[in-house]
Amino acid sequence: MSRSFVIAASLVFAAAPAFTQQRDVGATVTVGTAAARRGQTVYGVLRVPAGVDSATNLPVAVINGAHPGPVLALVAGSHGTEYTSIVALTRLIGQLDPRTISGTVIVAPLLNVASFTQMTVHVNPVDGKGMNAQYPGDPAGTQTQRVLARVAEQVVKPADVVVDLHGGDLDEDLRPYSYWFRSGQPAQDSASRTLALAFGLDHIIVRDFDLGDPASRRNLGGYAMSLGKTVLVAEAGRSGTVAQEDLQLLIDGTLNVLASLHMIERVVRPVERPVWLDASTRLAADSAGMFFATVGRGMYVAEGTKLGYTTDLLGRATGDVRSPVAGVVTFIRGVPSAWKGATLVTIGRVLTEVPAYRKPGS
Ligand SMILES: [Zn+2]
Repeated sequence: MSRSFVIAASLVFAAAPAFTQQRDVGATVTVGTAAARRGQTVYGVLRVPAGVDSATNLPVAVINGAHPGPVLALVAGSHGTEYTSIVALTRLIGQLDPRTISGTVIVAPLLNVASFTQMTVHVNPVDGKGMNAQYPGDPAGTQTQRVLARVAEQVVKPADVVVDLHGGDLDEDLRPYSYWFRSGQPAQDSASRTLALAFGLDHIIVRDFDLGDPASRRNLGGYAMSLGKTVLVAEAGRSGTVAQEDLQLLIDGTLNVLASLHMIERVVRPVERPVWLDASTRLAADSAGMFFATVGRGMYVAEGTKLGYTTDLLGRATGDVRSPVAGVVTFIRGVPSAWKGATLVTIGRVLTEVPAYRKPGS
């Protein structure tokens, strides 16, 4: 038994870098209404017909390279007010020249269209569901579920590599970082580590998944990993702003992913000294009221440091928020609005050494 296991594992390892879906370079790649022949960029929409609630159309672009190579899916806007990540992908489309690309890039820059147009944070206002929490979707479900079923079929499944971009939402003053999501499969984890270092953000949060648990497959990263994809998740941007420096972090990072996959010619300088952080310590509001930060995003804080304070709706102090651990403020609430359970701050503890994968709950 152990011998056959070793052989199987080494075969997977050897096959992974070559990608299993090297497609026919003459083929047309179709995503929704966008059908791109080799050497073409085509813009279109992914139509999601009305069901128990309204229809929607997601913007998509297919950049079908002239040369063979992997299929890369670039996704943003499951949180439709994380503008930096959405805008970064729209700007990137025009920068990719299909005549020189090896492989295919599928760009879906805005999954949660209603969140964007109505400026609703965190969820799809049509059905109140989180659009990074309902994979693999359901063609017979509400709009979020129908959208994600289409995204799963048309964007995630054809891809070898999935990049999911986020940014601080309207209420989040966020320090840029990427994630190293680990499944416990050595080849998959090694490939995603390479992409995280290539991306270029020097703070990287390490998060382990138990893909046997359906709850861990409801977000895009976990779902894509469960299908054997290489996954990279990165965040930059904050509080509704679209700053050029944040856009550039995500655009350059994504171009570095393409280069790392040998899809474009570009010099990649992987992060030499990453600050590895554990999956963040999240501090939530214990009652509704107002929150005021007293430290900034990206600050290093000691255990017990005051991070902010809360008041009631008449400004009377209701408590101080202190850090239970020493670490980095990966983001802090950027607006006074706080409901019971709202995330006020997340702190990442610095890992002096990255521990081996450990199945959550074990
Ligand atoms: Zn997000």
